[in-house]
Amino acid sequence: MENQRIICPGPINGDRLAFEIEHADTPPKERPDWPIRFVIFSSYGNDSCALIQWAHEWELESVAVVYSDTGWATVGWEARVTEKEEWVRSLGFTPHRTTSIGFRQLARDKKGFPTQRYQWCSYVLKIEPGMRWLKENDPNKSAVCIVGARRDEAAPGPETTRAKFPEYLVRSENHGGRMMLAPMVGFDAAARDALLIRAGIEPLPHRSGECKCINANKADMRRYSEEDIQEIEAAEVEVNRPMYRPHRHMGATGIRQVIRWAHSDRGKYVPEPERETCNSGWCEQ
Ligand code: SF4
Repeated sequence: MENQRIICPGPINGDRLAFEIEHADTPPKERPDWPIRFVIFSSYGNDSCALIQWAHEWELESVAVVYSDTGWATVGWEARVTEKEEWVRSLGFTPHRTTSIGFRQLARDKKGFPTQRYQWCSYVLKIEPGMRWLKENDPNKSAVCIVGARRDEAAPGPETTRAKFPEYLVRSENHGGRMMLAPMVGFDAAARDALLIRAGIEPLPHRSGECKCINANKADMRRYSEEDIQEIEAAEVEVNRPMYRPHRHMGATGIRQVIRWAHSDRGKYVPEPERETCNSGWCEQ
């Protein structure tokens, strides 16, 4: 097979990024002993599965696919990760997992939950473990990190970081100074789904469940199982705080009320009345 030249779609400042992929004569198979040339950080949601398929279609080799284990996945997600790791192996890529102290222990240590403003969870559970993994597995910093960011996912309104996400960075600080490639920045959901369908993967109608996220919206929360709710409830009891801020959820306090809010129609949630207490000592509470 001839060497292949990859050119990233959509020029930035008139430049195009091109690099050669050398092909081995042997058919793809997992080669854990080969030096890693490409790293895909994957939650095994829609975008990262599409990215794995993209790497397969471009016949990339020596690809490590790394899952960040936050210890806080929704029930059932672990089974998906195991299944998709098998798929990754079948493509000749190698699956890996990072390790972290896990969301619940982090909440215990910090005696509280992260917030949108102070989102230290992503650093502790994903960025630091990912950087540590890169340092241990690619000490020479020669691997290219490929990410599945799409500008299409940017929130409406003024240009956000996601709306301006670069196609590539020659030196990405978020990847320990390695080269970063984002081949799907210009893809819309249909282009992403086309990759999934070619992979034989049905697009999920929801986000990835790798973490019961503090930024979960109503749709995400409606998918929480009783077991997920119980886990959040237990963590709330441990740190003695609600995981989701009441002022962002119409006053709903604690996961049980937040779930009621999530199932309510827009503007229809009625917070439970505060239970008045009598401190006279004569009345049973
Ligand atoms: S997915 Fe949400 S809760 Fe989990 S680390 Fe990221 S921001 Fe924090």
